[in-house]
Amino acid sequence: MSAVYHRILNIIVVTLLVATLLLKPGQAQGQGGIVVENPQAVSDFGRSITFTAKITASNPIQQASLLFRGVNEEATRVETLQVAEDGSVSFTYDASLNAFPPFSWVVYWFQATLSDGNTYTSEPTSFQYVDNRFPWRDISQANITIHWYAGDDSFGISALDSAGAGLLAMKDFIPISLTDPIDIYIYSNVNDLGDTLLLGGREWAGGHAHADLGVVLVAVPPGTGQITEMETKIPHELAHVMLFRALGDKYAKQPAWLIEGIASMVELYPNPDYARALEIASANDTLLPFTDLCASFPADSGSAFLAYAQSQSFVTYIRDSFGVSGLSRLTDTYGDGFECNLGATKALGSSLTQLDARWRESSLGQNRSGVALRNLLPFLLLLILVLIVPLWGAIDMMRQQRKHAAQSK
Ligand SMILES: [Zn+2]
Repeated sequence: MSAVYHRILNIIVVTLLVATLLLKPGQAQGQGGIVVENPQAVSDFGRSITFTAKITASNPIQQASLLFRGVNEEATRVETLQVAEDGSVSFTYDASLNAFPPFSWVVYWFQATLSDGNTYTSEPTSFQYVDNRFPWRDISQANITIHWYAGDDSFGISALDSAGAGLLAMKDFIPISLTDPIDIYIYSNVNDLGDTLLLGGREWAGGHAHADLGVVLVAVPPGTGQITEMETKIPHELAHVMLFRALGDKYAKQPAWLIEGIASMVELYPNPDYARALEIASANDTLLPFTDLCASFPADSGSAFLAYAQSQSFVTYIRDSFGVSGLSRLTDTYGDGFECNLGATKALGSSLTQLDARWRESSLGQNRSGVALRNLLPFLLLLILVLIVPLWGAIDMMRQQRKHAAQSK
C-alpha cells in the first residue's frame, strides 16, 4: 500500500518537475508591469479553443497578444488581442484547421506593450486538449491509465490486462519504463477515432500512438471480439511508446519496416489475414522490396496492409536468425544514422537486399524449386544427351532399314 502510494507520489513529483521545465517560456521579460487574472482555455474538441483572461497594468496597454504552442512544437502562434475597458481579453482559435494532436498539452501566455514602451510577458499556463466529445472513464495501474467511454467496468479491466500482457511480451527486446505515464484512450469505433486524426495508411487498423506524448489511441468495439482486438492493438501501440522512450532522438532514424515490424511482433494474436496476404503476394510476385519500406509505408491501404504483414514476418525472421541482440544491433546502427541497406550489413553482416532474399526463401519458401532446378541443370543436360544421342541413332537406323526395304521391292 505505502509502496504504491510512494510510487504515485514519485510520479506526481517527476511530472510536476517535467511540467515546470517544459513550461519555461522563450523570452522571460518579467511580468512586473502587467497582472493576468484568471487565464482560461476552454476547448470544443475539433472545433475551437477559446482563451480568456483579464489583463491589468499600471500604465495604459497599447497592444496585447496571446501566444500559444503545443508543448512539443517549435513554432509559437501569436494573436493580437482587443483589450476591453476592464482588461478582459478573449480569443477563439479555429481548431478545425491546424489542430493540436488529441490529448496533447498546449501552453499559452500573454504579452502586453504598455504606454511606457516596455513589453511585459506573463507566466505561462497550460491545458490538455482533451477529446471532450465523450464521457471518459478511467482506471490505472502503475504508469498506465486506460480511458474508455463505451463498455462496462470489465471492459476497462480487460484493457489494463492487455496492456500488462503486452509489456510482458515486449520486455525481452524493448526496454520497458514503468514510471513515465502512458494514457490509452479506447474509442468504441473507428469512425469516432478517425475523426480525431489522420491515420494515414493505418486507418484500417484502428490504432495510433503519439509516442512523444505517451498517448495511445485505439478503436475497440465492446462485445465478443473485444479481448482479441485489445490484445492486438494495445501491445502494438504501447510498443511504439516504449521504443520511442528507449531510443529518443534515434527513434525517427529507424526504418519504418523495423519499427512497425517490432510493434507488430508483440501483438498477442497472429493476424490470419497477414499470412494470407503474404501467401498471395509471394505467389503473384508482388511482395514489396524492404528497401522501399525504409522511409515510410505506402499510403494506399492494400499496400500498407501488405507492408505490415511483411514487416512482422521479416522482423520475426531476423530475431529468429540473429537473436534479440541482432535486433538491438540494428536499432543501434540505424540510430547512428546508417543508411537503410548498408545499416543491415554493418549490424548483421548482410545487406537489406540479401536479408530480403533469404527471408523470402526461408519464411515464404520462395525459390526453393528454382534453386533445386539450378543445381540439377548440368545433370539434366547430361541426361538429355545420354538419352537423345542413341535415340537419333535408332531413328536413323529405322529410316535406313525402311529405305532398303522400299528399294528391294
Ligand atoms: Zn505501428
